[in-house]
Amino acid sequence: MAKPANEALMEAVNNGCLRGVKAALKAGADVDYAQRRPDNDLTGSCSSTALFHACIDGHTDIVRLLIRKGASVSKRVEATIQASPLHGAASRGHTEVVELLVRHGATLDMQDGMQATPIMAACMYKRVDTVRRLIELGARVDLTTIFGNTAQWFCEFDFVNQNCDFSRKELVGLVQEALQTKLLRCCNPSCGKPGYRSNLKLCAQCKLTRYCSRDCQKQHWTVGHKKSCGHDTCIVDGPVIEALLAPLFKLAGKLE
Ligand SMILES: [Zn+2]
Ligand SMILES: [Zn+2]
Repeated sequence: MAKPANEALMEAVNNGCLRGVKAALKAGADVDYAQRRPDNDLTGSCSSTALFHACIDGHTDIVRLLIRKGASVSKRVEATIQASPLHGAASRGHTEVVELLVRHGATLDMQDGMQATPIMAACMYKRVDTVRRLIELGARVDLTTIFGNTAQWFCEFDFVNQNCDFSRKELVGLVQEALQTKLLRCCNPSCGKPGYRSNLKLCAQCKLTRYCSRDCQKQHWTVGHKKSCGHDTCIVDGPVIEALLAPLFKLAGKLE
């Protein structure tokens, strides 16, 4: 709607000002408004929503408000990488925001443009607490990106010169333990009952969420899966990203 209101919304979100966000929404700002934020390494110079910005900055109260006002938890950054708010929060280690998003229907194993999942993003940035919580919530550790990289690979690889052997070992331990137990969880966040692939039923449409019962599936659908289902897998043309990113990952492979 009104352009000034949208810009006021973004400004308030970027400043972490809850009151400003409330005022902007009241003045008619679009709750899913997206804008460029050039200083951000996750989005490059591409547009991302107010919710995405609040997620990477860890403004839990603003995230809560935006979701309550109907912000989409599955709207992605308009870039090749196609990261979702959950990827953003996970990569920055904002565990509380991760929980909020999941509780409101964000798909745990949502895939970005490389088919990387939020837990991979948390592993990449060595966010031990977030990885632990994502595993507790039932995130899968056995998925791979279009380059064949696993969550464990993201734990082991020193992407951004973190030089932190301690958290790397801890992360690998967490992921390996999850791989061994093969334990998954019911994706209805108010249930979370542990189970195995054999006794949890997959959502027939997206095949990314799983449930212990029909009731749990219905409940999760109502709290937000309805909006996320079908938007939770990679929507970018694989070969396009591959061509763009393959040289980087080949190099990363050599350095490993
Ligand atoms: Zn359940
Ligand atoms: Zn689904």
